[in-house]
Order: sequence, then C-alpha cells, then structure tokens
Amino acid sequence: MADREMRCDVIQPSNATLPRRVSYSQMSLYNQCGLKYFFSYLVGFKEPPTAALAGGSITHEVIENLYKEPAEARTMQRAIDLLREHGQRILTKPEYASFADDNIMKQSVREAVENLFKLEEPTELVVLPEHLEMNVDVTINGVHFFGQVDRYTDSDKKRVADYKTGKSPGRFVEDKLTQPFLYALAFKEQHGIDVDEVELIYLNARERVTREVKPALLTKVGEELAEMRAGSEKDIAASTWTAKLHKLCDWCAYKPVCPANNMDAPQPGTEASEAQLLTIGKVFKK
Ligand code: SF4
Repeated sequence: MADREMRCDVIQPSNATLPRRVSYSQMSLYNQCGLKYFFSYLVGFKEPPTAALAGGSITHEVIENLYKEPAEARTMQRAIDLLREHGQRILTKPEYASFADDNIMKQSVREAVENLFKLEEPTELVVLPEHLEMNVDVTINGVHFFGQVDRYTDSDKKRVADYKTGKSPGRFVEDKLTQPFLYALAFKEQHGIDVDEVELIYLNARERVTREVKPALLTKVGEELAEMRAGSEKDIAASTWTAKLHKLCDWCAYKPVCPANNMDAPQPGTEASEAQLLTIGKVFKK
C-alpha cells in the first residue's frame, strides 16, 4: 500500500510498447510503482544482479536437479554434491562471476538446501521430472500470462509449489500468495487441471505456507491481472505513470530521478533523466 501517489508525465521512447506477455514479476512491479515499471519495461533500464539473485538461482537449480533423481537417491549428500556442481557452474556465468567469493551468500545457499530436508522428506515426494520448472503460457481474461512453476505434484492433492529464498514473508504473506494462485489459475486455463492447494516453501526461513484453492480466489487474481494490464495500457496511452511512494523507495534505484521524491528531478524518459541515472551507476541499459 502506497503512502502517497503522484501521476508523472513522462517522455516515452518513440517505439515504446508494453511487453507482449505479462509475468507475475511484471504485475508485482507495476502494482508496487507504475513509474518504476515505466523505467524498467518501457525505457529498458536493468538493475545489476545481486548476491541474493545468484544464491536463489543456485538453490533452485540444486533442488530441481535433486528432484530429477530417483526418489531413493535424493539424500542430503547428493544435494551437497549438486550444490558443488551447479554452484561452481552458475558462479562462472558472467552475470554472477563477481559473487564467486561471496561466502555469506554461499552459506545462505547451503542453509537453504539443508533446510529443504527439515521441511520435507525428499525421498518420499512423488514428483515427475516434467512437473519441475513447468512453463505456463496462457491467455487469462484477455491477458497473455506466462511464468514458471517450480513444482507440481498430484499424489495426494494437486499442488503447485514455489520455493523462496531469503527472509520470511511475515505480514506480507497473503500478497506473496498471488503468484502461486495465478499459477493455479493458469493450470486450469491451460491444462484443465483444478489445483487443490498452493504452497510457498521459504527455505531459509524454514517456513511452509499452504492455502486451499477456492474458485473465488482464482477469480480475484485473474481480475487483478486484467486490471494491471488495463492500467498499464491506459498509462502508456496517456504517457503518464503513477509513482507510489512507500518505504521501499529507499531501496529504489530510480529514487534520484523520481519526481515524486525529488522536485528538481528531470522529466522521466528525457535524456537528462537517463544521463543522471547512468552517472549514478545503479542501473544500466542493454
Ligand atoms: S522512488 Fe518510489 S515512487 Fe519513485 S520510482 Fe522508485 S518506487 Fe516509485
């Protein structure tokens, strides 16, 4: 929830278009702040990868590969071997190479992998290899939605699960559940599967959040997706985006050029705005 909102007129690139498909991260960013979405998806600024992103990527890779093993082989030792193998490989990628000596991140990944065994018994989980990292790509309420589901299981209940690294969601947990509920809706629309339950597995926080899927909840997230798309279509047509001031502004790379935070900021989308942002060096443009 924003503390204050301000509509900001911007200069859009002449060929600016909205992304053809909408992901949960796009929707979440737009709802957090329309102006930030404008800088990211219309102008094309990117924030450099973080250690947390590198760690999350390694953790997901290890768990995906662990669950591709036959059930009896999914031991802690096998997980640690996979961590060595995939950790080294991922940390040689150009975007993550600067974190190769980040021992705090490595320790956090190790804890996340070890905690998986405290949250569930991997040798007992029934999961098909094709149900890991499943792509969804489907039109919902006229919006082309896409994403990747970490895991789908259907041995007791039909369940969509997503692993999370980092801290506990605390009081924001219901907001975080929008993502798996959207995936459950996508499963229904794309595969005709009625998911019974969604689950978020917070590895580092050693927390598991599960919720029953109810039709009204799916209707709600489907409507939120359509509202986000309609809102962004209106914003691009008007060349005006909503800056939403809140606590997270302190961590926003665009704060120095955000008119809602700085009355002297150049108009977003102008050469002056771009030059200032690139000089500060917290974002880059591909
Ligand atoms: S500083 Fe806050 S209001 Fe400004 S773009 Fe960033 S998130 Fe939006």
